[in-house]
Amino acid sequence: MFGGVNRALREAKAWMTGSLLVAALVIPGVANAQDVRLPVSASFSILGDLVRAVGGDRIDLTTLVGPDQDAHVYEPTPADIGKLTATKVFFINGLGFEGWMPRLRKASHYTGRVVEVTEGLKPRTTRDQGKLVTDPHMFQDPALAKAMVTRIRDALTEADPAGKTYYAERAKNYELALDDLITWARKQLAPISPTRRVVLTSHDAFGYLGERFDIRFLAPEGVSTESEASARDVAKLIRVIRTTGVKAVFMENITNPRLIERIAHDAKVQVDGKLYSDALSQNQEASTYLQLFQHNIRAIAAAMKDDR
Ligand SMILES: [Zn+2]
Repeated sequence: MFGGVNRALREAKAWMTGSLLVAALVIPGVANAQDVRLPVSASFSILGDLVRAVGGDRIDLTTLVGPDQDAHVYEPTPADIGKLTATKVFFINGLGFEGWMPRLRKASHYTGRVVEVTEGLKPRTTRDQGKLVTDPHMFQDPALAKAMVTRIRDALTEADPAGKTYYAERAKNYELALDDLITWARKQLAPISPTRRVVLTSHDAFGYLGERFDIRFLAPEGVSTESEASARDVAKLIRVIRTTGVKAVFMENITNPRLIERIAHDAKVQVDGKLYSDALSQNQEASTYLQLFQHNIRAIAAAMKDDR
């Protein structure tokens, strides 16, 4: 597996030496080490952003499931498989988040290294249609995102040892940014009383965020958007909304808003807007993970306030 990476790096270095010579003859000083970027891929946009945060200019990143797209129900295209095959390291979330991964691996005969960024981290479990299931949405907790960044740093360093210091420095800076974000989020949420800390969204994507910041998230759909909410679950949820008096109700950028709109209508509550769950946004509101997190915290803090 690494033989392939090392060979590619050797070839890349040989090519770079060649291009430096050409550059020296033609346009002196233009070529540099960044001409030879490590080709890597990520399964979905949020993970892609974390990989870019660490890899910076040393990587050439391909992301399969783009902004505002649902990674649970994605279907790999032949073009995606072609792009993936050309990369040396493939970062995935794991924990069943990418339900299509077995099919993709079979179709692509991928020979690079597959890095599961949640490997070794303890996942939370939750009830989904009566069964105990693993929640794959670890990336919604910035403290766990830090651990993912460490894994990304290590995998990039292994594939591209010359970039060790570069990756280490970028990972460190990003982890500090995540620490600042956690402190900021605690301040935003501090004034909200325990009884108001309930939020309704489409699918069960915010369990880790809820555990980190003491917020209870309700959702008609389970940990994957693949299964539809049953009429019984929806009726039960409407009763819960009425009895708990939940005020914070949100759509998600990756799911159809109709179910939430119907529930809000039946429970006589207002929809507060949109949360970014399993993907970044195409607009500027959540085009990076740091922005996504800030948007979500700001939105839920405003919706849960006592004086609404
Ligand atoms: Zn999800």
